[in-house]
Amino acid sequence: MLVIAVITSIPMLHLGHKAVLWFIICINLIGIQIFTPISISWTLYFLFTMIIVMGNIQYQLDILLRTQYRAELMETEKANTDKLTGVYNRRSFETKCNDLMTHLKPLQFIALAMIDIDYFKKYNDSYGHLEGDRVLVKVAEILSDCGADIVVRFGGEEFILVKILDTDQLNWLHDLPNRFSNNAIPHQSSSFGRITVSTGIALANEYNKQNISIKSLLTSADEAMYKAKKTGRNKVVSQKI
Ligand code: GH3
Ligand code: MG
Ligand code: MG
Repeated sequence: MLVIAVITSIPMLHLGHKAVLWFIICINLIGIQIFTPISISWTLYFLFTMIIVMGNIQYQLDILLRTQYRAELMETEKANTDKLTGVYNRRSFETKCNDLMTHLKPLQFIALAMIDIDYFKKYNDSYGHLEGDRVLVKVAEILSDCGADIVVRFGGEEFILVKILDTDQLNWLHDLPNRFSNNAIPHQSSSFGRITVSTGIALANEYNKQNISIKSLLTSADEAMYKAKKTGRNKVVSQKI
């Protein structure tokens, strides 16, 4: 009976299996009533005790499974997140980006922006690595405020933002230099006197969806970012694929 009780209370067990086990228990109890002299009160007492014990075991196991599920979810979230800045890390970038691409509708664009902090090595040299880490956190905060669908720390002092755009939003992120001047972080070794970023944006239309790949978006954004660096930094260069 105890074995049946435990098996019955396993939450993962199919409802049909539970019903069958309960059916067997009831048949047994009816048999006990018919073929033994045990009184009906004892049988009912046993039945109610079983219901309470099994319900309790079921409840406890439910809690245990839910806690385990939540812990696993948190582990996955942790593995997908950059420890320092709290935005997504490179590991989760592809999955998130592929997910986003499936939502691209006719006439829409997907924009992938590669953002690189200017003269960051000099910043570390002047202020120390710990202060450099603080800047990375601040930069991640500013970038998280830009309305992107995905914010990723791609590595080192490089970030990636991805967003699906309607045709009237194609100048998205062109105000990024202003955002950084409004949130000025002093940088004495930069010619700008504060932290600035260079941004390359790759834009791809829904029409050439078949040809859009993460690799082509990355290559194009990297090319555009390189142009931004070469032509003075602290600017945004975008190009269509
Ligand atoms: P550019 O304007 O051409 O981008 O110059 P840069 O100095 O920013 O670029 P470079 O690639 O020469 O140097 C990147 C620096 O970023 C070097 C490295 O010390 C720093 N860096 C990378 N990851 C971290 C990090 O996690 N914390 C800190 N504090 N610094 C980092
Ligand atoms: Mg870099
Ligand atoms: Mg840099």
